[in-house]
Amino acid sequence: MDNNVKIQLSPSVEDYLKGIYTITERGGTASTSALAQAIGVQPASITGMIKRLANLGYVEHIPYKGVQLTENGSAEALRVIRRHRILETYLQEQLGYTWTEVHQEAELLEHTVSNKLISRMARVLNNPTHDPHGAPIPTASGDIPKAHFLTLLDVEPNDLIRIEEVQDEDPVRLQYLEESGLTPGVLVKIMKRNSFDQMTTVTVLGSEIPTAVSRELARDVFVSKIQE
Ligand SMILES: [Zn+2]
Repeated sequence: MDNNVKIQLSPSVEDYLKGIYTITERGGTASTSALAQAIGVQPASITGMIKRLANLGYVEHIPYKGVQLTENGSAEALRVIRRHRILETYLQEQLGYTWTEVHQEAELLEHTVSNKLISRMARVLNNPTHDPHGAPIPTASGDIPKAHFLTLLDVEPNDLIRIEEVQDEDPVRLQYLEESGLTPGVLVKIMKRNSFDQMTTVTVLGSEIPTAVSRELARDVFVSKIQE
């Protein structure tokens, strides 16, 4: 595609495409209510936008299930996600932002930065593959590694795991994870899980200090199992 003649998408179109991508990247469709929650609007107010996205050829509506991105929609979503994740990485590595601050700043900037600035930032960062939260950064041509499916809630006591990716939106949760040493790349032993509330107790490998992770937080932490 010729970038010089490409029309600029509006911020809200970009937010919708990114929202649908995030909800469906591990499979399935995006329901109206899940999408409304992701965007932060009332479910009734998104019908018009979904029609508009369908007319633009970015989404397909599947009756009674929700929407999913077409190939074009997915390509546009990945362009916004690349900008967002490069910005987060740049803010942290070059400007000293903490990983709890970068998301909100990147949300604002992702709609306005030029391709030129993003490619310069990527070059300064040595073409990073993951953002500060462990999320993969799509390449300039739109390739992205497969998402991790396993969460901290899917592994069992005595498992040894590596933290791969955490949800980037809630600064309070991020701060708790950071203070507990539960950041991407860290190896963690699962100590126990309460049967009544699914609270999981973990320790960072090499440390004796236990950390409690609630069911809700565990769902936000993507992991991979390490063979011992
Ligand atoms: Zn973010």
